[in-house]
Amino acid sequence: MRAVVCHQGQLSVQDVSAPEPGVGEVLLRVRRAGICGSDLHARLHGDETADVAAAVGYDAFMRSEQSVIMGHEFVGEVVAYGPKCRKKWEPGTAVVSLPMVRHGSDPHLTGLSEHAPGAYADFVIVSEDMTMEVPDNVSLDEAALTEPMAVAYHAVRRGEVGRRDVAVVIGCGPIGLAVILMLKATGVRTVIASDLSAGRRDLARQVGADVVVDPTVDSPWDAVVDKGRYMSRASDLFGAAFDGMRTLRRIPVVPWASVFHLADKLGATPKGPVVFECVGVPGMIEHVMTGAPLRSRIVVVGVCMESDAIRPAMGINKELELRFVFGYDPAEFHDTLQMIAGGDVDVTPLVTATIGLDGVAAAFDALGSAEHHAKVLIDPASEVVTL
Ligand SMILES: [Zn+2]
Repeated sequence: MRAVVCHQGQLSVQDVSAPEPGVGEVLLRVRRAGICGSDLHARLHGDETADVAAAVGYDAFMRSEQSVIMGHEFVGEVVAYGPKCRKKWEPGTAVVSLPMVRHGSDPHLTGLSEHAPGAYADFVIVSEDMTMEVPDNVSLDEAALTEPMAVAYHAVRRGEVGRRDVAVVIGCGPIGLAVILMLKATGVRTVIASDLSAGRRDLARQVGADVVVDPTVDSPWDAVVDKGRYMSRASDLFGAAFDGMRTLRRIPVVPWASVFHLADKLGATPKGPVVFECVGVPGMIEHVMTGAPLRSRIVVVGVCMESDAIRPAMGINKELELRFVFGYDPAEFHDTLQMIAGGDVDVTPLVTATIGLDGVAAAFDALGSAEHHAKVLIDPASEVVTL
């Protein structure tokens, strides 16, 4: 079969032998595979990430000297089953799968490990237990977005955003856009989005962002302070404490500390917005920490694979909360597919191009600085080679 192989940071289309499904595995013909920001980063910074993964207990993340077929966002058609499968789906049935397979008791990340070739290829192997049928009303393009949408769904859930909270999305690439869709689908009233690219700002509006900011012209943080009762300066917080105490100490009957505790319980003490960092390049976390209002919760979704520096005192002075999120669970993946099928999220604006395998290397180069692209899909049957 034909596959795009990554070796030493270079991508090339090669003829490789088609994989064979093992116990509990299904062979799929790939119909669409999405290019993920993590793939762009992994091509160049795989070794650093592999070191981190090994420290966390996974020692088979892709390394530059290996030959790896990437592609962890995909939809395919059932072709054949390995031994001991339930064989629930007829050949030809469209399915999506969590990008994980298991060899013995060792799980591997499909498309991000030499041990689990991904979907930038004619065929891919999935685990039958991790696979789900695509509902009839979901197109192949939409189904291919299940995986990145599940990442966004998980991030929004872990962000614990209330409907009345203001959410801020920094970076409107595919994951930022997916986060905006999921925030709106879960009922968050005010979503502020910021991106340097005019094309991506248009997409942010299309997928439901309420306020869209060009950070070279306006500050997303000013928009946040406008939308909510948020404090961006430490002196405001100290001032509020003085004002509160001045009032409380003059109420003769009630013990002031009890009123203070009650106000805190009722949510009257300053709270921050929830900020989603969806860029994932060095310097972004520090940039967000410096700009975000006091007591912001910063959810780090963009996968920065390099070392990075922050000033902890900034987080301490502002009582910031940093929350890192990764992946999703099978139920979140399932729910995401159902949300797409039910029309809760319309992912179609995210797909800005579809190319064949021969166009992947050029697409990787172009996507680094793409003004007008979000999700680029690969259709192995397509002959399109330019974005
Ligand atoms: Zn991804």
